[in-house]
Amino acid sequence: MAIDRKMFVLGLDCAAPQLLFEQWKEELPHFASLMDGGLYGPMRSCDPPITVPAWSVMTTGLDPGELGVYGFHNRASHNYFDLFVANGSHIRAPRIWDILSEAGKQSIVIGVPQTFPVKALRGYLVAGLLARGGDNFTWPAGLKQTLLKYVPDYRADIEDFRHLSPDRLLRALYTMTAARFKWAERMMKYYPWDFFMLVEIGLDRIHHAFWHYMAEESPYHQKESPYKHAIRKYYLFLDKGLGRLLQNLPEHCDVMVVSDHGAKTMKGLMRINQWLINEGYLVLKTVPDSPQRLTASMVDWTKTKVWADGGYYARIYFNVWGREPEGIVPSSSVTALKAELREKLALLALNGDNGANGRVIDPGESYREQKGIAPDLMLYVGELSYRASASVGGKENIFTLENDTGPDGANHDFEGVCILKGQGIAPGKLRGGTIYDVAPTILARLGQAADEGMKGRVLGT
Ligand SMILES: [Zn+2]
Repeated sequence: MAIDRKMFVLGLDCAAPQLLFEQWKEELPHFASLMDGGLYGPMRSCDPPITVPAWSVMTTGLDPGELGVYGFHNRASHNYFDLFVANGSHIRAPRIWDILSEAGKQSIVIGVPQTFPVKALRGYLVAGLLARGGDNFTWPAGLKQTLLKYVPDYRADIEDFRHLSPDRLLRALYTMTAARFKWAERMMKYYPWDFFMLVEIGLDRIHHAFWHYMAEESPYHQKESPYKHAIRKYYLFLDKGLGRLLQNLPEHCDVMVVSDHGAKTMKGLMRINQWLINEGYLVLKTVPDSPQRLTASMVDWTKTKVWADGGYYARIYFNVWGREPEGIVPSSSVTALKAELREKLALLALNGDNGANGRVIDPGESYREQKGIAPDLMLYVGELSYRASASVGGKENIFTLENDTGPDGANHDFEGVCILKGQGIAPGKLRGGTIYDVAPTILARLGQAADEGMKGRVLGT
């Protein structure tokens, strides 16, 4: 008789291969045991390597263009700054657990980004970020009462984490993660499941807020800080949590550890809109005396060809005639304008750093389809060593250390982590793994055919 296999996936938002696999492996016995007994290595995220859309890419096997989600903020229309925040309702493609539900298998899903508002599945779901305590954040709805009785401190995320004091943020992080793991342990033991996926967002939050205390090369580094080991200690805490979960695993259960992207030291920011102004692509009605985030009302659209949005990477938009309300770029010039920007940005020099060139990604080339409204171009500065700031005004400087979205010591990196341990999987180094491989691999291990549209491959075969 065929054995019904199960799969447990621990998702660690932002887990960095250089820390988990190299720097701290010896101190993380439970992660190390999975690595030594399984297949592991860096895993290339999607473009852009950002929480939203990366977890949805991972759990559907589709690219951001096919999902129509290009980041947290997406254009709702071509009316300039008309943006919406992408939540679970914007993911219409079936996720791993939807496919498993169809096949009659039970899933438990906890904390996966873009699962709020909740949708029905065969099993149980506790939504990830954007879910607030007052919301109905579980499936079935009644699960919320049981959860809050057992772990009253439960929360999906820490809002506004960049603006909390380090001590308050640390307390909140440990409380949040302890509650999530305690609840996961309970569900693992007492609720039926074939597929169990738990995502912890806390690692991303601690990376962004504490990286510069650890990284001596950071321009924000403070020597002799009491927070120097904050990130390392949190990894040790996660390892203990993983250990308790592993103890409770049923027989014939595969284990995966994955992250949606990695992390690296942020060296500063590029003021993309100020660069567009200096190069004559963006024209303001009046230039603010001190740096301010660009807003639609500042812009003289009748003279503007290009504007941008900041963040971990820059989204670049063209003011196209007949498409944007006051568009001036003829659609016949779009290709040439893209090439011109690509060329100029490739030569970008920031703060005397030779590695600070800009790399432009064209969604039209990178994705198999473009649903919704994709940016015209996306920009990585210094291979993500720099963030993009949306600020304009003040001096005409392009480089800045001032973050327009709040303090941050880390930027995302292209490679996250992947560990896969299961019967018949030869231990060793995973090479060339991508985020697109996760869904087909999980489905294959659970005896399901991958969806035809998924572009990844099955790992471990
Ligand atoms: Zn993330």
